[in-house]
Amino acid sequence: MRFDDALNRRLIAATAKAVIDHADELSELDRPIGDGDHGLNMKRGFESILADLDGLTSKPLPDLLKAIGTHLVMKVGGASGPLYGTLFLTLGKELPPEPTLDDATRAFGAAVAAVKARGKSDVGQKTMLDVLVPLAADLEKGGNGLLPRLKETAATAAAQTVPMKAVRGRASFLGERSIGHLDPGARSACLMIAAICDVLGAAR
Ligand code: ADP
Ligand code: MG
Repeated sequence: MRFDDALNRRLIAATAKAVIDHADELSELDRPIGDGDHGLNMKRGFESILADLDGLTSKPLPDLLKAIGTHLVMKVGGASGPLYGTLFLTLGKELPPEPTLDDATRAFGAAVAAVKARGKSDVGQKTMLDVLVPLAADLEKGGNGLLPRLKETAATAAAQTVPMKAVRGRASFLGERSIGHLDPGARSACLMIAAICDVLGAAR
């Protein structure tokens, strides 16, 4: 797929809009099992990305992804900033300028592995990885109707964090009391994935 200026712009704008429009919800999710700032953190990061939209869209895909990763590391803060930053920086390092589905699958797998290493975390611990890991597995399967399926996988995976007990991040301080709440990072991952799938789906 060719990531030209127009597609890059639509991808960035839609992802930023999804996060910013849901900032209150994300912070609300972070209140009972964290410190109530996830939406605010993510909104700050994506506002910084939007302010740089013209500069970003003209870059080749790998550079664009690395620049987004840098914005997220610099502006989001908290636990999620360095982790989402690592995800995008690794995608930028691993993807060629015009990736095939195989390239995307391999790069996303590498990016998720980098998030695991950075967070010393893995699937099942009530974090963003509970969405990112099933997504990587679903990408590996490929096949027909991939984009709508990835959206569905992300939504189902996020919902599955509700009964989990947190063992990483602030929510882990609550132990058993973290059970029964949707993980805010799982929700933000799901929102970004849905936005990206919608734009890519419309572009094909
Ligand atoms: P903080 O917890 O520092 O306030 P945020 O509120 O912005 O940061 O982000 C919290 C989210 O970050 C959690 O909901 C979880 O999904 C994710 N997270 C926290 N720690 C880890 C970790 N070690 N590995 C993966 N994800 C994590
Ligand atoms: Mg927080």
